[in-house]
Amino acid sequence: MSRFTLPRDIYYGNKALDVLKTLKGKKAIVVVGGGSMKRFGFLDKIVSHLKDAGLQVEIFENVEPDPSVETVLKGAELMRKFEPDWIVSLGGGSPIDAAKAMWVFYEYPETEFEQLIKPFSFPELRQKAKFIAIPSTSGTATEVTAFSVITDYSKGVKYPLADYNITPDIAILAPEIAETMPQTLTAHTGMDALTHAIEAYVSRMNSPFTDPLAIKAIQMVFEYLPASFKGDKFAREQMHYAQCLAGMAFSNALLGIVHSMAHKTGAAFSTGHIPHGCANAIYLPYVIEFNVKNAEGRFADIAKAVGISAGSDRNAVTGLCKKIDAYNEEFGIPKTLKAFGILEDEFKEKVAAIAELAVGDACTGANPRRINSGEMEKLLNCVYYGTRVDF
Ligand code: FE
Repeated sequence: MSRFTLPRDIYYGNKALDVLKTLKGKKAIVVVGGGSMKRFGFLDKIVSHLKDAGLQVEIFENVEPDPSVETVLKGAELMRKFEPDWIVSLGGGSPIDAAKAMWVFYEYPETEFEQLIKPFSFPELRQKAKFIAIPSTSGTATEVTAFSVITDYSKGVKYPLADYNITPDIAILAPEIAETMPQTLTAHTGMDALTHAIEAYVSRMNSPFTDPLAIKAIQMVFEYLPASFKGDKFAREQMHYAQCLAGMAFSNALLGIVHSMAHKTGAAFSTGHIPHGCANAIYLPYVIEFNVKNAEGRFADIAKAVGISAGSDRNAVTGLCKKIDAYNEEFGIPKTLKAFGILEDEFKEKVAAIAELAVGDACTGANPRRINSGEMEKLLNCVYYGTRVDF
């Protein structure tokens, strides 16, 4: 049996936030990250809309990037005291991801984190509250996905939680919020969205339900990301929708090894974090070259959908990789991990262990071509030195 799940409602465009004034219920808790949503006035606006709906409002602030188990348990505790019937999460991926996990512990306080690691095994939610997500960045699409990532810092482990129960009830895409993204974040999150859509389209789990969403998202990213990067408002709005379409696709079709590699390299090196979208953007052309053996026709579909007609399917795929390279160059994203600044000695020392972890990542299973640790190590070497993927 296959399943395709989306939020019940998506509100978008000018005045999308006004839907908050019409909610029925008694209490809402707003879960938010650092100060930017407050500084730009969006937190106040959202609280005032919820009060207009006659709701009593509590705020849980300061969810950190890569939210921790402790933050989740603290938020759930506040929810148990306050007893909201709406959870309203606002911000980049992190506050929304944290709020999804808080929701589980609010409704099922006796749950253990370890129980949630098994995908699609969550208890039935919506016994106490429904969930609204309002994204402030245009990339993760957590507002429409069944995923959340929580970090246990004491064990140094990231828990990727996956269950359709945590797909939000309502997603609100308010373009004025996405307009506040800085330029580099716009590029990185945009390339993350492109990666989501491409990986979903070639995924082993692709379906007639996810294909059109993925293709439309890819077309929109190629059309609007450059202007969005330069700050064009209309393009920013279109990117906010494109990343959401990509999210609907990958929430149901899953991802592939670009994400496996980004997850396991992101915090692996002493020279600092590699931003998620930036890592994806660097790896994507190499992974396409690796995957083309098993998914040439699917990649050619993508190339043709964005106007690349180069005779054979193989040439079209090469054209697609060149197009991605050109976008990366325009956005100042380096071509290799070496150019990103990862030290060669450290890379050599760690690559075998990273390769093994990447093969074991939750995203590897849906990749169109099987990969073992040796091949992953070779692929990571290509990504480091910028050499051709010819195996
Ligand atoms: Fe991603």
